[in-house]
Amino acid sequence: MIAAELKPFKEINESLLPFERVLVVGCGTCTTVCLTGGERQVELLATALRLARKVEGSSLQTKEATVQRQCEPEFAGVLKEAAGGLDAALSLGCGAGVQLVSDVLAPLPVLPALNTSNIGVAKEHALWEERCAACGDCVLGGTAGICPVARCAKGILNGPCGGTNDGRCEIGDAPCAWTLIYERLEAQGRLDDFKRIAPPKDFAAATGPRKLDLREVADEP
Ligand code: SF4
Ligand code: SF4
Repeated sequence: MIAAELKPFKEINESLLPFERVLVVGCGTCTTVCLTGGERQVELLATALRLARKVEGSSLQTKEATVQRQCEPEFAGVLKEAAGGLDAALSLGCGAGVQLVSDVLAPLPVLPALNTSNIGVAKEHALWEERCAACGDCVLGGTAGICPVARCAKGILNGPCGGTNDGRCEIGDAPCAWTLIYERLEAQGRLDDFKRIAPPKDFAAATGPRKLDLREVADEP
């Protein structure tokens, strides 16, 4: 899923200063699951923003709406009516959600309340770790299902580098991805894959704007 975290409150508050009536929009999918953009977070943030404005000596009116997915027009479309007569919207969706809501509500300004951080997995309760950088040219088949692009600090495709130490990466506080790859390939009896030199990666596949066009498949009977 896509993981995103709340921006600093001061930044959100300041971004809304030019506006008096704001639609605060939650997303019922990824950001709900990662506890930053669901109905409850919308309610809490809207309340905090109104209070902050009051303390500043003025007022902010908020309206709240949470759609199932901000990144799909059939869900985001219902926001048009909700935004009627308002000055701006504040989105608690990921970056894709903010952009689709901006398209749907244009020319209404739509501000982001979250910083989208990664495509990740739930590691334990309320902890998500990045697993994929959406590079568009997946190499997991040769790396035992462990992504060196997202999980190696240097994103190297033929590792490990000289900085690996006792299974830890020299950068940050994470296991060395290439040690993990080695260990899993060994457990799978596939160490020959480890010796194979990966060719230069096609980073053009990660160059935006990208599209996933499945219209022909979708139209098949
Ligand atoms: S190799 Fe690319 S597509 Fe595959 S998991 Fe890693 S970042 Fe994602
Ligand atoms: S120590 Fe491992 S994870 Fe860290 S940069 Fe080097 S190869 Fe990548």
